[in-house]
Amino acid sequence: MIMAHLKKSNRGLGRAGRFLYPILSICLLPSLLLSLSREQISIGLESIHSTGIRATLGFLASEHFKGRGTGTPEAGLTAAYIASVFQRNGLQPLESNNRSFVQSFDLCQALPKEQSLLELEDAQGGNKGSFKFGEDFLPAPWGADNPAAYGDAVFAGYGISTKELQYDDYADLNVSGRVVVVLNKFPDNSKAAFDKLSPADYEDPMAKVLLAQKLGATGVLIILSAGEELPAAGELNFRKARTYLANDVRSIQIPAAIVPFTIGEKIVQREAGQRMTSLGEIKQEIDSALAPRSFSLGKRLRIETSYERKIFSGQNVVGMISGVDASLKDEFLILGAHYDHLGAGDNNEIFFGADDDASGVTALLELAEAFRCNPSKPRRSLVFATWAAEEVGLLGSKYFVQNPLVPLHKTIAMIQMDMIGRNAERSADPGKHIEEELPAQNTKSLNVMGSPFSQDLRSALESHSQEVGIELKFRFDFGSDNLNKRSDHWSFLKEGIPSLLLFTGFHPDYHRATDTADKINYTKMERILKLIYLASWDLASAPRGPKFDSSAFGH
Ligand SMILES: [Zn+2]
Repeated sequence: MIMAHLKKSNRGLGRAGRFLYPILSICLLPSLLLSLSREQISIGLESIHSTGIRATLGFLASEHFKGRGTGTPEAGLTAAYIASVFQRNGLQPLESNNRSFVQSFDLCQALPKEQSLLELEDAQGGNKGSFKFGEDFLPAPWGADNPAAYGDAVFAGYGISTKELQYDDYADLNVSGRVVVVLNKFPDNSKAAFDKLSPADYEDPMAKVLLAQKLGATGVLIILSAGEELPAAGELNFRKARTYLANDVRSIQIPAAIVPFTIGEKIVQREAGQRMTSLGEIKQEIDSALAPRSFSLGKRLRIETSYERKIFSGQNVVGMISGVDASLKDEFLILGAHYDHLGAGDNNEIFFGADDDASGVTALLELAEAFRCNPSKPRRSLVFATWAAEEVGLLGSKYFVQNPLVPLHKTIAMIQMDMIGRNAERSADPGKHIEEELPAQNTKSLNVMGSPFSQDLRSALESHSQEVGIELKFRFDFGSDNLNKRSDHWSFLKEGIPSLLLFTGFHPDYHRATDTADKINYTKMERILKLIYLASWDLASAPRGPKFDSSAFGH
């Protein structure tokens, strides 16, 4: 429905090669702003050029920024540079506390310390054994600073409770004041939809601990799947430790520890008449019946966790170009890209991240300039958001949706640009029905993800792709190739906001030090930026925002 209006606004303008024509006139009359004409947007469109793209990207992917690793001084330098470009282009800061483009938040890492403890006792309090730190157990990696847990142990299956899938490990189970023991991941049964695309992350161990905490548990023990191992001692350092949002960690008030399956087998057994049912058998029962097998273990567990902690700052950089229509300027279209990458490696080799994601950030900066230099402005407001800490778990965008600088219910759509500078190249994988792709076949291709959630959003891109000479592909949207959880647009899809990820595809330099600026296809990037510019105008000017189709979850 919306596209009918969008198309109407372009009626009679023609398509192919239109932006190549010289600009004949610039209409600045306010009365004409409501009907979008090509002349009104052509100055911005013409300003998008591969020369500028090359200069900006080359700088962002240069050694000065040392790979923009989260928590490094160079990540801060990148944020400051982005903010200066926003300021130069007259964008408005949105962080109201200090009129800043920077939205700061705390990130943290934790290293488990050896004085941590895991002990098993029988029901009478007799000690049945303690477990060895690092070999038999490890405190959970997020490292909340919590009091010790001691109490009756209860096995709660996978520790999942979901109405949506009609599965509840906690049904008829009282865990108040008890230590909950759960399996990692989710029931292994192809009939269940646990692995389908869902706003709920059923296997997230932190979510399992939060649920147990909500139900009154005093501690949680998580059993790894058979074959999974605890991190080796050499992995327990701040270079390798996982990074979390400090706010998320602060919300956890009970200790948690992780044990390998072999240790889990010693803790979880069930008496059935003459024989004991093993953890493996119990797991199989749950998996095949897709029904909980929760029970009290008749034992007690003590969990004490201790950590060395590091807290540091992450910074999203966000600016806005205000809409000109009084009735629509309080609605927002967010354009996003992540500026962090992998930093420097063990041998000081720099992960330049030219494609990932200096290309997306360059697009944002160049688009900010294009919209600034165009005399007319869109009816809705445009938000330019560069995310921090994407590579370590989409943390910048996660923080943003938890603490939005513009109301999420007024955000009509989000378009994320993550790796938009290369010609995809990958070898064949017959097992996954993937055919070999050569870079020469992909000089004009752009992958779009998230489109099943909004046909309107998809159409906004499609209506301009031919004109700019870009071939849109939708093959990564679902199935084994699904990349929808792999960039910041996912944080917005989960909130029910129509969102797309634009991505030129994988290549042999992905997440390697060889992802350098000289390998970028700048002509292609110019086409992609023009596509986003045109689609953004349509979206920001249409009478209504794109529709969200939540039925795309569950695929
Ligand atoms: Zn990446």
